[in-house]
Amino acid sequence: MAYLSDEKISFGIVIVGGGPAGMAAAVAAYDAGERDILILERDNALGGILRQCIHNGFGLHRFGEELTGPEYAYKYERMVEERGIAYMLDTMVIGIDKERNLTAVNRDRGIFTIKCGAIILAMGCRERPRGALNIAGTRPAGIYTAGTAQKYVNMKGYMPGREVVILGSGDIGLIMARRMTLEGASVKAVCELMPYSGGLARNIEQCLNDFDIPLYLSTTVVEIHGKERVEAVTVAEVDERRRPKLETARTIPCDTLLLSCGLIPENELTKDAGIPLDAITNGAVVNGDRETDVEGIFACGNVLHVHDLVDYVSEEAVIAGTSAVRYIRGESGRDADIALKTDGRVRYTVPQRITSLKDTVVYFRVADVYKDAYLVVKRGEEVLYKRKKQKLAPGEMETVKLTEEMLKGDGGELRLSIEMA
Ligand SMILES: Cc1cc2nc3c(=O)[nH]c(=O)nc-3n(C[C@H](O)[C@H](O)[C@H](O)COP(=O)(O)OP(=O)(O)OC[C@H]3O[C@@H](n4cnc5c(N)ncnc54)[C@H](O)[C@@H]3O)c2cc1C
Repeated sequence: MAYLSDEKISFGIVIVGGGPAGMAAAVAAYDAGERDILILERDNALGGILRQCIHNGFGLHRFGEELTGPEYAYKYERMVEERGIAYMLDTMVIGIDKERNLTAVNRDRGIFTIKCGAIILAMGCRERPRGALNIAGTRPAGIYTAGTAQKYVNMKGYMPGREVVILGSGDIGLIMARRMTLEGASVKAVCELMPYSGGLARNIEQCLNDFDIPLYLSTTVVEIHGKERVEAVTVAEVDERRRPKLETARTIPCDTLLLSCGLIPENELTKDAGIPLDAITNGAVVNGDRETDVEGIFACGNVLHVHDLVDYVSEEAVIAGTSAVRYIRGESGRDADIALKTDGRVRYTVPQRITSLKDTVVYFRVADVYKDAYLVVKRGEEVLYKRKKQKLAPGEMETVKLTEEMLKGDGGELRLSIEMA
């Protein structure tokens, strides 16, 4: 459990957020030899969003077994406890500056400041709410983000409604379509604005097709009906510019609308610290060590870019944790400055630049569905890597390994692109 004497006002590495990213970063930093580590978590337990994800499908890559979210989180909690890594719960970090002074608040101490050797940002992300979606209609009860509904059902034992329409086919929406069905609700439709789903292919199969729940692509909710409680929603198809085709409008009676319309990395602290953000990921711009543009501040997990698999979150957190240890020992060593650029079909990469000549795994997402296309990495006109991909989809995060050999050579820029066969 947490310890922090009143006198202790500095730490080697402080981690903001005790979800899977924060815990994995702490464990990696400890295993790399650092002992002066503190995790700060605003909730009343470690585990982050995994605590409410009681379905299985976690940990296949990392542990070679299929775990539920709480089981995956518990494995890391055990590792944190076994190593005696300090953490404080119910503690909200409210400010960070470029000199790595961190301000936090909790009930015992009030507001306090910690001087940090390095900081790892691991605050996760939040869901896009109704207010950000511009849906016409009244403001009745019965409209929830999918994650809020998940918390009600899985943690509080409260059923948000019986007749459900889901807007957005991201993974949380798909998982909740199945969850609500299993709890006895009738899920009438999942509507997706885009012509493809934003979720994993396996979730479409296991959460919709297995339960005969219809997925309507290129379709959105144009109006919500009901005064006290949702009574129906009107849905309509959209054209290629995503404008509703009102002649296709039809009304679906329901008492609940769940929104699964995207996740936003929790980067208020990052912005306050003056750390530049990537316009596409809404997370910090980082190098291969997951160090931001402010020296000694690192980022990993969903606060950096939205991941679909927690296994990749843990993988990335290990990079951030070990890099932070090298940083406070003065061993960061930079021997390159290579910017990673994209062609638009590749929407973004993480990292966005590489500052050491070593094998580096680059995560990326594509802008559309591409079949039988080539992923190509070039320096100028020189092709360094070309691999055929059967299918690339925005909902599935992809990786490519850039070897030390590929990174060597003239020119400070590599370009990732998708070429059609
Ligand atoms: C509904 C849902 C279903 C999913 N299904 C799967 C699946 O089937 N398989 C799979 O592998 N992955 C799945 N994932 C993805 C996986 O759960 C996430 O990628 C992972 O939890 C992200 O970890 P994180 O540590 O970055 O963020 P989080 O888990 O969100 O943790 C962030 C933590 O930071 C804390 N925090 C934030 N701000 C502050 C602050 N200012 N001060 C202190 N603490 C703060 C938060 O309270 C939270 O505990 C799913 C995710 C969701 C939401």
